[in-house]
Amino acid sequence: MHVGFLGLGAIGAPMAARLARRGPLTVWNRTAARATEFVARHGGVAAPSARDAAAADVVITCLSTSADVAALLEGPDGILAGLRPGALFLDCTSGDPATSRAIAARLAERGVAFADAPVSGGTNGAEAGTLTVMVGGSAEAFARARPVLAAFGARIEHVGPVGAGDALKAVNNALLAVNILAVAEGLAALMKAGVAPRTALDVVNASSGRSFVSEVLVPERVLTGAWPRTFRLALLDKDVGIATRLLGQTGVPGPVLELTSALLRAARAELGEAADYLDPIRISERHAGVELRG
Ligand code: NDP
Repeated sequence: MHVGFLGLGAIGAPMAARLARRGPLTVWNRTAARATEFVARHGGVAAPSARDAAAADVVITCLSTSADVAALLEGPDGILAGLRPGALFLDCTSGDPATSRAIAARLAERGVAFADAPVSGGTNGAEAGTLTVMVGGSAEAFARARPVLAAFGARIEHVGPVGAGDALKAVNNALLAVNILAVAEGLAALMKAGVAPRTALDVVNASSGRSFVSEVLVPERVLTGAWPRTFRLALLDKDVGIATRLLGQTGVPGPVLELTSALLRAARAELGEAADYLDPIRISERHAGVELRG
C-alpha cells in the first residue's frame, strides 16, 4: 500500500519515519528542505507538490491546523488535484471538528473517504510507535485506517463520526493545559512555603492530585532544567480554543477552560510562536519569584 504523508513537523516527521520502514512512502513538506532531509535519513521519495504526494492509496496530513489542511486541498498543485477516487484520507492534525466535517464532504464528492485521526503521546511516542490515535469516521474508514495507523499508534480507538477524534483530542489537551498551569502555581506556592518541588511532587504523585504533568513532564523537563522543545505553545493554545468552542456549541458552561484559554493566549502573545507548551511555567515562576528546580 502506497502512503503519501504531508507535513513533516515535530511530530509528523517521526510518524512518517515509522511508515517509511513499512512500505512505499511519498512525503511532502511546505518547506522543501525538511522533506529532502527526511528522505536522506529515513528513505521514501520527496514529492515536488502536495498534488504529487496525494497520488497514493492512503494520504495522511499532519499540519498545524485544520484550516491549513483545508487550504492545501485546493489549487492546481493541491491535494484534490492528485487524489484518486477510492483513496483514504487520514488527517492526523489536531483539528477542528467543523472543518474536518467540511473536508470530509469535499472529499466525498471525489469518492475519497476521510477520517480525522489526531494523535496523543508526544514526539517520543511517535518515535517509539506508542501514540494513541483518536479516529473519527465511518466504521469502514476506521477498518481501512487501522493497519496504517498501527505504524505509529499503539492504541487506536474509533471514537465516533467525523470530527469526534478532533473533539476528544481538544478536550484531552485542554485537560493537559489546566494541569500545566495549576501544577506550576501550586509548586511555586509550596516552594515559597518551604517545601522543595521534588518533595512536593513525590507526595502529590503518591496522592490524589497526580497527573501526567506532575508525574512526567515537570520532573523530567522543568525540575531538571532540560526544557526540551517538542510541542509549540501556539498549538496547545489552538487546541484549548477548539475545546472552549466545543463547550459553547454544546451549551456546556466552561469557566475553567475559558480562563485557561485566556491565560494561554496571553502567554502565547508574550512568549511568541516558537515557545514550547511548558514555557508558561516560566511565567508562573517569574510572577512568584522562584525557579522550580531540584
Ligand atoms: P510543527 O509546528 O512542528 O509543524 C507543522 C507542520 O505543518 C510543518 O510541516 C509545517 O510546514 C506544516 N504547515 C503548517 N501550515 C501549513 C500550511 N498552511 N500549508 C502547508 N503546510 C503547513 O507542528 P507539530 O508537528 O508539532 O504538530 C502537527 C500537528 O500535530 C498539530 O496539529 C499539533 O497540534 C499536533 N500534535 C503535536 C504534538 C507534538 O508533540 N508536537 C503531539 C500531538 C499532536 P513547514 O515545515 O513548512 O513549516
